[in-house]
Amino acid sequence: MLVGFVALVSILAWRFSLLSLSGAGAALVCGVLVGLGFGYRGLSLLGLFFITSSLLSNYKKKRKGYLTEFHEKGSKRDWLQVAANGGIAAALGMAYFWWESPWMLVAFCISLASSNSDTWASELGTLSKHHPFSVRSFKRVEPGTSGAVSATGSAAGFFGAGTIALAAYFLFGLNSREVLLILGFGFLGMMVDTILGAFIQAGYRCRVCGREVEKRHHCGEACHLTKGKGWLQNDGVNFISCLLAVILGIISYV
Ligand SMILES: [Zn+2]
Repeated sequence: MLVGFVALVSILAWRFSLLSLSGAGAALVCGVLVGLGFGYRGLSLLGLFFITSSLLSNYKKKRKGYLTEFHEKGSKRDWLQVAANGGIAAALGMAYFWWESPWMLVAFCISLASSNSDTWASELGTLSKHHPFSVRSFKRVEPGTSGAVSATGSAAGFFGAGTIALAAYFLFGLNSREVLLILGFGFLGMMVDTILGAFIQAGYRCRVCGREVEKRHHCGEACHLTKGKGWLQNDGVNFISCLLAVILGIISYV
């Protein structure tokens, strides 16, 4: 029943181009593990993250069209993106299934709050009328650049974490301390993501058109690495910041 439900959602997400085929496969695994541990309430929280993120990615898509010019991926999520954003939630679902413990539920909510905060911040921050500034150079940069902050993006990130915290309160009947931890550490995860995005994530310059991009190839040629680590792309940064938020959250909780 549960597997069938998750499979149906994954297939629909693939059919509607929200996920690539590999992304749908990863979503199926993620959904089943979350469902095993946290039941339909856990799946609802995961679904809230997935649906709002997909809607925001497709919102004003035309205006964000230029982003595919310098970002590695479009709005269709592949398995690496799904694993980076939902992998920790899935691992916690499996752990909770074997060995139920209250901190795991809070950690699960923090992981989704962090991913939701980060996605809302990047999808809505990109639409900001003012250019964001880089936390590395303190200069104004193109909207959508990793490691850039804007007031719109930060506010969106706060509401992204808050939405998950509020939903968790209603779904699981958490207390106010737990809800605040989810909000706080979810928001922190988004900030860590920005800082890692600014300092460690790979950034490139196109050898042909000279633009600063976040993908290895541009204008049909391999780009020149200008900052960060060549092995650390956006998915890796998402995963690390989510993991860090969860670990710090657990330490504060227990
Ligand atoms: Zn180019």
